[in-house]
Amino acid sequence: MRKERLVREHNKLSTHLYTKQQSLISHFSFLISHSPLIPHSVLILLFFLAFTFSLHATSVRHTVIPENPRPGEPVTIGISDAAGARYAVLVVNGRRLAKAAFFTVPADERPFMAAVLSIPSTARQGAAIISIEGDKGVIREIAITIAERVFPSEEIHLTPQLSSLRADPNPQRTAESEQLWAILNRTGKEIYGSGSFSPPVSSTRLTSVYGDRRIYRYSNGTSDTSIHAGVDYGVPTGTDVASCGAGKVVMARYRIITGYTVIIEHLPGVYSLYYHLDSIAVADGAMVDTGTFLGKSGATGLATGPHLHWEIRVSGENTDPDAFISRPILDKDALFSQIYN
Ligand SMILES: [Zn+2]
Repeated sequence: MRKERLVREHNKLSTHLYTKQQSLISHFSFLISHSPLIPHSVLILLFFLAFTFSLHATSVRHTVIPENPRPGEPVTIGISDAAGARYAVLVVNGRRLAKAAFFTVPADERPFMAAVLSIPSTARQGAAIISIEGDKGVIREIAITIAERVFPSEEIHLTPQLSSLRADPNPQRTAESEQLWAILNRTGKEIYGSGSFSPPVSSTRLTSVYGDRRIYRYSNGTSDTSIHAGVDYGVPTGTDVASCGAGKVVMARYRIITGYTVIIEHLPGVYSLYYHLDSIAVADGAMVDTGTFLGKSGATGLATGPHLHWEIRVSGENTDPDAFISRPILDKDALFSQIYN
């Protein structure tokens, strides 16, 4: 079904470009035959220049999958390697809400460039633009529509100890936060895995879903709000936790808020995170596959009970893990055929 839709959209685009070329050709043919004042040689030269330019324009083709994403969902942008694309930027009502760097995707016939962008869970539904930018400015602006999505909300009551952990100033916690952001905002070059993700535990019991609007009630009566950046599996301490996809371990250590923590890089800018583990079985720099044992689940760090918090980050933005379970994180074949065929 999806393939058919892709082919249809591709055909639509090709037809559009073909029509543009044809109108250009007939326009110049008309000039050549009806302009006695301009020498034919100049007109013919102009014609070839314009035709070459239009051919060049058709060779820089792009694609966006999907065209109607919901808040919290990833969007993949593909473009010909000739375009000089550096960044894809999500623009809503004139505001730049998210930015992702392009990386090269090797292919047998010809490489292409891709960027994975995430629609923030706070983005409003409606018209948006994906701006493809290079060193000399905007290369393409693509209109997309952000679909409607309603997130659930919940209240979390914290004990005095957990309240202090979350709210009191702590230089160690600040340093750990900066270290985490330095990793998540990094866009590498390696494609370690491009297939769809597998859930990290076999349990399907979720105690909290992605995008949950949360109110934290502190023990002193004050409160704070946040948005749940991942999904929580309600599994007992000691449950095996597996990597959701192929990748490289870029963090395996204890953190104050997230306890024993593992982070895996899968694609440039795409990371999976595993929090509150009881123990860690992998080391920094290790290569992992889908299903590789990462450690045992637990309740370390800021946790009100044993669970696994699983989170996906795309160019720094939290993203609904479900979106990567239901489709490949980088659909190379679809991107290639939409860009070049
Ligand atoms: Zn969580």
